[in-house]
Amino acid sequence: MKNKTLNRRDFVNGCALSLAAGSTISPLEALAQNILDPTTLPPDYYPPTKQGLRGSHEGSFEVAHEMRDGKRWNAMDAGDPAYDLVVVGGGLSGLSAAYFFRKQHGPGARILILENHDDFGGHAKRNEFWHDGRMHLVNGGTLNVEAPQQYNTAAAGLLWELGIDRVRYFEKNKKMWSRYEEMGLKGSMFFDRETFGEEKLVVGYGDDPFDRFIDNTPLSDEVRNDAKRLYADKKDYFPGLSSDEKRDKLAHMSYRDYITNVVKCHPDVVKLFDTSLLGIFVTAMDAIPAIYCREMGYPGFDGLNLEDISPDQLANEPGGQHGRENTERAERGDPDMYFPDGNATIARLLVRSLVPGAVPGGSMEDVVSSRVDYDLLDRNDNKVRIRLNSTVVNVAHINDRQVETQYVLGGDAYSVRSGAVVMACWNSVIPFICHEFSEKQNEALLYGQKSPLVYTNVLISNWRSFVDAGISRISAPGGYHPSIGLPPSLELGEYQTSRNPDRPIAVRMSCYFNEPGLSRREQHRVGRNRMLATPFSTFEYHIRDQLSRILGPTGFDDEQDILGITVNRWPHGYTYAYNPLFDPDDWVFTTTSERPAVVGRQRHGRIAIANADAAASPHTDAAIGEAFRAVNELLSSA
Ligand SMILES: Cc1cc2nc3c(=O)[nH]c(=O)nc-3n(C[C@H](O)[C@H](O)[C@H](O)COP(=O)(O)OP(=O)(O)OC[C@H]3O[C@@H](n4cnc5c(N)ncnc54)[C@H](O)[C@@H]3O)c2cc1C
Repeated sequence: MKNKTLNRRDFVNGCALSLAAGSTISPLEALAQNILDPTTLPPDYYPPTKQGLRGSHEGSFEVAHEMRDGKRWNAMDAGDPAYDLVVVGGGLSGLSAAYFFRKQHGPGARILILENHDDFGGHAKRNEFWHDGRMHLVNGGTLNVEAPQQYNTAAAGLLWELGIDRVRYFEKNKKMWSRYEEMGLKGSMFFDRETFGEEKLVVGYGDDPFDRFIDNTPLSDEVRNDAKRLYADKKDYFPGLSSDEKRDKLAHMSYRDYITNVVKCHPDVVKLFDTSLLGIFVTAMDAIPAIYCREMGYPGFDGLNLEDISPDQLANEPGGQHGRENTERAERGDPDMYFPDGNATIARLLVRSLVPGAVPGGSMEDVVSSRVDYDLLDRNDNKVRIRLNSTVVNVAHINDRQVETQYVLGGDAYSVRSGAVVMACWNSVIPFICHEFSEKQNEALLYGQKSPLVYTNVLISNWRSFVDAGISRISAPGGYHPSIGLPPSLELGEYQTSRNPDRPIAVRMSCYFNEPGLSRREQHRVGRNRMLATPFSTFEYHIRDQLSRILGPTGFDDEQDILGITVNRWPHGYTYAYNPLFDPDDWVFTTTSERPAVVGRQRHGRIAIANADAAASPHTDAAIGEAFRAVNELLSSA
């Protein structure tokens, strides 16, 4: 048994043991001689500081793809005693499931979390850049606690129990965006020569009156006039139809088609909105329903005299119902909360609670600067263990009291037993891991396609070029990264985002992979394949090219100014949310139990399903709320 455990650890250590100068011995010998502690990670194991291609990094997905393609493994017993719970997936949902399970079953509950990446948090990861002894933080994925007042009770309660205090947070962070405004910095749009025939940075986008902004653009007179008309006209483009009939039309027509075919604007007008919508939907404009844009306040609808949606519509669903919920209700209450590393702060607070000592400190402020001791995550004597680099390939009941979970670590497969399993991984992998669900449930689990998006962070030596250009953020329709910007200006404990333009700062750039002309799901599928085939060098080329072209005139020099690059690619990014252009209206606008998310998430014996996909909502409160539901469902299987 011992050597099996050793194999697992040996992989994580990633090396043979070096003893005296030049001499190495095999791990087996080392264990026999009591030299090797199988629970020790290399001292420099610290994934947040890794640069290059991160997110779904190399080594994290290959086993899952082999499993999808039919490979099977012979698993050896990992040598662990039986657990009360095994959690598949160490994202916010999996960590929350462990938290809720321990709350219900007491501090003695033995829990193992298996995660295929080299770090915990799922999408909620952080990037740490270090320069001249100072840390610069950015979110590698999940950005913010959006619309906190809408959080379901389980999620809001969890945040509170973890020590996230909104009042204290906003005492220090009210100016996270206005600090840039006070420096005179505005939004901007960059028109590139390949797309628009002329290269120009226009300052004031989103801040100055629209007419003033548009008159400065290099767009033709026809495009400018059409864009102004789209904003100003109060025309009823559907005379004779009732409010409901108009809504129905807008639900089944893309915003692109509405602007070009109904309002009859030049196609280039559409490009003005591409950037902001991509960040939410990750599809080309042809897959975004016009009604969503109306609800989110985009122009062109004022003359239609539509009745507003009821404040009750989807009121109890988690966040991320963009375009399907009552805007007034959605925007009421506290503003969004950003931590310097995004929602990785929530993941770290969860791990602090689950594995005592692993994340030193005791407050939401000090967790930001705290260094995780990865070596403590998977110790024999932990009640809760987090095992990284471990891809689960099989979950099956052994009998009506126990489930066996098999995972691959370092090329070898291991098995553990537990009284229950929560699948907090993505819906799309569950049918390949567990073969006990019905065909109907598998079909439902496989319905959604997660969206492929990339969040890139670039540490630059100073941001004087932004200040001299008078901008804090850039929309670049047609650009490889359509969205570029300075991070929110935050202060938590000892950590403060750079406030001195002559000092380094991490710039955020995002890009999206889609395929116009296809359905939303197909756009995501094709885009994902393209993303996975894109090497780091391509991202780097475009980072340097775009920043130089936009900020070069105010002094940016990529050779001198770029200090570090981390490209976080998320081929399986936002959860699929329903869309009336491609899905039945009932799935989109009601909470019918016919929705694939509901059919797919049903518990089977001692195996329950969590994760944001189970709510069809790409949001943190969905991930937490589904963990709470899954853990509660297991109570009834006890
Ligand atoms: C780039 C990006 C930005 C986002 N921004 C926001 C935001 O600002 N606000 C917001 O509320 N939400 C945001 N989201 C949505 C985010 O997905 C959710 O908020 C939440 O973090 C999802 O948590 P989860 O645990 O359900 O899924 P994940 O975070 O995806 O975690 C699931 C984990 O399971 C692992 N896993 C999968 N298969 C296996 C296997 N076979 N074995 C072991 N492990 C496996 C995965 O690798 C992953 O680590 C964002 C998402 C992305 C991609």
